[in-house]
Amino acid sequence: MKKIIIAIDGFAATGKSTLAKKIAAALDYTYIDTGAMYRAVTYFGQKQNTEGCIDILQLIEALPKIKIHFESTAQGQQTFLNEENITAEIRESKVNNAVSDIASIGAVRNFLVSQQRSLGKDKGIVMDGRDIGTVVFPEAECKFFLTASPEIRAQRRHKEQLEAGNLESYEAVLSNVKARDHQDSTRKINPLRKADSALEIDVSSLSIEEVYQSMSKQILRVIET
Ligand code: C5P
Repeated sequence: MKKIIIAIDGFAATGKSTLAKKIAAALDYTYIDTGAMYRAVTYFGQKQNTEGCIDILQLIEALPKIKIHFESTAQGQQTFLNEENITAEIRESKVNNAVSDIASIGAVRNFLVSQQRSLGKDKGIVMDGRDIGTVVFPEAECKFFLTASPEIRAQRRHKEQLEAGNLESYEAVLSNVKARDHQDSTRKINPLRKADSALEIDVSSLSIEEVYQSMSKQILRVIET
């Protein structure tokens, strides 16, 4: 079977990463969570400064020192920043609340987009994010764009966070989801938008399994042509 690039973009908490992992496992492809890469840079910036606020110039200067990699383990995919496992830390509200600001900095985007392109150069990857089908891999053979109402997405994210022991309120999660939607869609550089050739799926009233089934059909059509 020919190897392709599968790009999954969309709003926060639409199930992109769950679906991307499932598709990657079924095809024996590599899964790349680009949101985790932006989160890792944000976490690095917060750690640079003892007060936890990010000095943007200092962060840009230090970008070449940032090495991000992923490892698959029995506990799922783990994210490493300069050999430190930061999988749990990058999901905390401190990172949630700052990541879209950091993702709007051109130097950060250029730094990560070039790494994402090299990770996908041999194809056989499923990459999820906000600009994969439009900027990172405009030539991707298969593109998806997932949407759902902010309330449904916040409910899902709130449930996931509670299960992970994060006790943030539903209202706080909803407000973070809305703020990130706004920032991600209105930023000047590589804003979140649907690629012309992407298949748009509104997941509001669909289960993960139903979305997976329709994505699989589309992927099969592409792989078999
Ligand atoms: O996917 P996730 O919600 O973990 O992404 C965190 C944030 O990283 C997004 O809200 C967005 O600001 C940024 N991001 C981005 N481009 C990507 C992936 C994520 O700007 N390709």
